[in-house]
Amino acid sequence: MKKLINPTPSELGNSPEEFIRKLSEATMIVVEGTDKSLTRGLVTLLHGNEPSGIRALHKWLKSGARPLCNLVCFVPSIPAATIEPLFKHRVFPGQRDMNRCFLPPYSDEPGQLAEEILQIFAEYQPECIIDIHNTSGHSPDFGVVTFEDSSHEALVSLFSERLIITDLRLGALMETSTHRCPVVTIECGGAKDSAADVIAEKGLDKYLNHSNLLELEHGHHLDLYRHPVRLELAPDCIIAYSKGYVLGTDLTVPSEVDKFNFGEVERGTLIGWLGNKRGVDCISVKDSQGFDVFDQYFEVKGNQLLTAQPLKLFMITTRPDIAVGDCLLYATAESEHDTLDT
Ligand SMILES: [Zn+2]
Repeated sequence: MKKLINPTPSELGNSPEEFIRKLSEATMIVVEGTDKSLTRGLVTLLHGNEPSGIRALHKWLKSGARPLCNLVCFVPSIPAATIEPLFKHRVFPGQRDMNRCFLPPYSDEPGQLAEEILQIFAEYQPECIIDIHNTSGHSPDFGVVTFEDSSHEALVSLFSERLIITDLRLGALMETSTHRCPVVTIECGGAKDSAADVIAEKGLDKYLNHSNLLELEHGHHLDLYRHPVRLELAPDCIIAYSKGYVLGTDLTVPSEVDKFNFGEVERGTLIGWLGNKRGVDCISVKDSQGFDVFDQYFEVKGNQLLTAQPLKLFMITTRPDIAVGDCLLYATAESEHDTLDT
């Protein structure tokens, strides 16, 4: 892995695009803080199609500012991000999703990179780690954590007022979180939403400059959503996005389905039209235990796939490749919604 220590302006290029082209491979960046006794961790561009974090980091590095504490930072998926057109590829073709690799065995290339990142973090002992992402569809900002406690809530609050607490285990970086070093995922919003870049910039600025990051400030509001499930599609599922059912598809999803991200979704909301050959067999909805919970969340009427109860939907993708390769959406029951005011 490439290493940059206290990068100089000439190493940074004039734009985030120039910066990642110059780097060309997975890179570790270390910036010395004013207080050298404390270190904070940052990861971004684990997914090559999610640019808000690297844009914010590049802008901040260019400013020449010094962080309050040492910063240890990883930008892993530069090889995927720099395939033309830039920021299109989530993963490098033929490789596993980088944010599914933080679990042994670390046998393949992305697995070995994940292991190296974890080893270096273990040496530097940061007090916390944030991992900045975008969603592929339009979406408001939110955070995802695997532990529900005030330090995780405080970290997410730097960026967002929405928090998902997940018990799904997929091999994501945030799953390595501990009480000694909380790790959170920040979803800044859609990869094509300019608002997401602003969320990343403002949050990163706080992350690098605030003391007591792990204490939830007074007067903060958080919307909490627990126990999400994933709506996954069979690997050979033929999917389209359109205004009505597209002949020959197993599932057609309304083009603007991402408008439901964190919106009001009542029972009976249309999520898609199923093909008559496979019907609902191309879809699975599993909880964290691996049990099929389709019927609790969705129902089928005729060829329509509908929600079966009021839900919060998030990470709804409008990219067919991501819908099939990862999942179409996440859902939590509105009954799992809670608020926290400090
Ligand atoms: Zn991501």
